[in-house]
Amino acid sequence: MRRRAGPRREFTQRGKRRIAQAPALCKTRPMNPTLPRPLAELPPRVAAAFHTFLTDIDDTLTTAGRLTAAAYAALEALHGAGLRVIPVTGRPAGWCDHIARMWPVDGVIGENGAFYMWHDAAAGRLRTRHLLDAAQRHADAQRLAAVRERVLREVPGCALASDQFCRLYDLAIDFCEDVAPLPDRDVDRIAALMREAGMTAKVSSIHVNGWFGSWDKLGTARLMLAERHGVDLDAQRERIVFAGDSPNDEPMFAFFPHAVGVANVLDAHERLTALPAWITPSRAGAGFVELAAALLAARDAS
Ligand SMILES: [Mg+2]
Repeated sequence: MRRRAGPRREFTQRGKRRIAQAPALCKTRPMNPTLPRPLAELPPRVAAAFHTFLTDIDDTLTTAGRLTAAAYAALEALHGAGLRVIPVTGRPAGWCDHIARMWPVDGVIGENGAFYMWHDAAAGRLRTRHLLDAAQRHADAQRLAAVRERVLREVPGCALASDQFCRLYDLAIDFCEDVAPLPDRDVDRIAALMREAGMTAKVSSIHVNGWFGSWDKLGTARLMLAERHGVDLDAQRERIVFAGDSPNDEPMFAFFPHAVGVANVLDAHERLTALPAWITPSRAGAGFVELAAALLAARDAS
């Protein structure tokens, strides 16, 4: 449940939301009794036992909208060390095609779980596992267009996300990426209009995403690991690490005993009913690099 913007919320130069002195605020946060613990306290034997690394992209791997060389190198190092690496993102199918083909990953889950993609090296082709068939996707696209028009009409200042053209399932409304940041009440209104139309709506750090379906990041991660890798996510949850930062990561934070938030996860603490178990010292991509270094050091020492 999100709260209204309060006087403690401030805006940075780039217009991203931040909460001043977030750690201090957390002491009074009523909905999340369990605060994340510092990453430094993650036991090395736990870190060394991870076989699968799931990660959000925006503001977890990336920093202020950019993928830094250091963060990408960290991703590559994790993959090179033998971890199964799978980004789990709200980003669109068009981006996922690129990620699955070119990044050092074992596949990617996109549009908040509407599909997963992987590059089949043996066959030399990209493959996609859709949760819906093409006929249903086409039917939903008509309904989605109606919601899109209503949201744009009724919430001034928002915009269709720039990556909407390469989405298959999501309606993505930008409230903080290419537009001036909207207040919480407008973000709430966008999500409410989507839900009123029968969509699932989730808030990332930059977009409100809506879709006709009940999937989420966790459910499709469970499906992909079972179908592609023969891994029972429920039985193996202690050996899977997830990194994230925002409300659309909440199912993962709630499920994985070793979910890790990059430091900016506390920006969204008022909107989260579950926080990750661990937190990095640094924000966004720099926090991702710290996490990768900790995991690799633990593997090296084991
Ligand atoms: Mg994110």
